[in-house]
Amino acid sequence: MAAPRVPGYAVHVLARLWQPRSPAWASRFACMVAAISSAAACASTGHRSPDLTVETEPSTTTPSPNPNLDSRRTVDGHRLEDLEQEARTALANIARARNLDVIGEVKVRLIDRPEIRRFAERSLNESIDPETLRIVGQIQASLGIIPEHADPERLLLDMLEEGIWGIYDPKTQTLLIGDFVPKPLLPMVIGHEVAHGLQDMHFDLSLHQEPLPHRSDAEAARRYLIEGEAQAAYLAWTSGAEGLGRIGESVLNALSDQALQSAALTPYPILARELQMPYGDGTATIVRLVLEQGWGAVDALYRDLPQTSEQMLHIDKLLAREGPISLAIDTDSVGRALTMKPVWHDQVGEASLLAILADASPIKVARQAAAGWGGDALIALRTVDAPTTTLPTILIATAWDSVEDAAEFASALQSYSTKALPKSTMLTHRGTAVIWVVRIPDGVSPSKLEAALWDAIAIDKGQGA
Ligand SMILES: [Zn+2]
Repeated sequence: MAAPRVPGYAVHVLARLWQPRSPAWASRFACMVAAISSAAACASTGHRSPDLTVETEPSTTTPSPNPNLDSRRTVDGHRLEDLEQEARTALANIARARNLDVIGEVKVRLIDRPEIRRFAERSLNESIDPETLRIVGQIQASLGIIPEHADPERLLLDMLEEGIWGIYDPKTQTLLIGDFVPKPLLPMVIGHEVAHGLQDMHFDLSLHQEPLPHRSDAEAARRYLIEGEAQAAYLAWTSGAEGLGRIGESVLNALSDQALQSAALTPYPILARELQMPYGDGTATIVRLVLEQGWGAVDALYRDLPQTSEQMLHIDKLLAREGPISLAIDTDSVGRALTMKPVWHDQVGEASLLAILADASPIKVARQAAAGWGGDALIALRTVDAPTTTLPTILIATAWDSVEDAAEFASALQSYSTKALPKSTMLTHRGTAVIWVVRIPDGVSPSKLEAALWDAIAIDKGQGA
């Protein structure tokens, strides 16, 4: 996402495997997992439960060998040799269901939690420089996504260490499977990771994990494709002879909403939603695309990547390749109005806005409010002499497909803003545009700021829909 998301590998991994740390909500989460699994199993042949995921993400880092993790180690009674055989079987079956040939090999290695943390730390440091990580974390804090003064790297690594069950490493074509994964979940973990291995053989995952600076929404769209396709390929196998058509709309919708609902039980729900949604909405959109146009249409997406999370949330927007409305902010003008200077800019995107809105509105309301997104732009600003530890002021300007869409969004965003950020915010709305400013410095005249904001925003209505 734009600001609220930390770009790069770390975010990807997180999304999927977040597991609650607190016993109080751990039991509730477990119930949700069971509910989702059983719902999905109803749509499948029943021999495996498509479900909640286990995350894994393409990474650029090769984990250092751990001499303690060798072929004698077992996972809940599984020997590594058994896992390798299971991976080979899954690869052959998923490739058949996915309509791709197996043109390479994947290896399997066991990994423990401390090694996952080291792997994630190396990957994070490779994909994002410390200054970028710091400013993105500050933007998240300004927007109420993580606590003020939180260390974004430590927060992410804590989540990853607890949440990751499996990783696919394109550098070594290896599945890294947690040595703590419960036996019943191993088929899903292996199947999802093997599906990444198949992707890598045909679409070069290393190519698709390059950061897209200041294009967080495009990065999110790519993540939805990669994670959604891996999970959809796994589901295609587990759905048996009838294929994905056996999975009905009600199951796809439940899968999507579950990703939003379960995040509410975690310490950082907005971040958790952003991480989980590619496995829910991303999977659902890919399944719908396959049912509509076949796996060849998914192959084509790797040649012409989806550009917005909006496209990966709505199959009709994807099929139409509806592009974003171009929205420009005269940052110098805004800077003068606030007596600040811009320090960052980005895209936000529908998915991240939905993750925020769902914090203060029921999921159905939040989805309705985020739909009709047309385009947006985010800038972060700071007073010239302010220390770099000062949380920035954030301006998010959004354009919507219709006046009604803008009004729905403004209403839901006001609910979030009131709940999470009761002070020093401005939400102003005209026609199809909505502007939100957070952490307005003391002494700024609201009326002058509002006038300056509208003068500084230019929307190209010739684009988008
Ligand atoms: Zn994955």
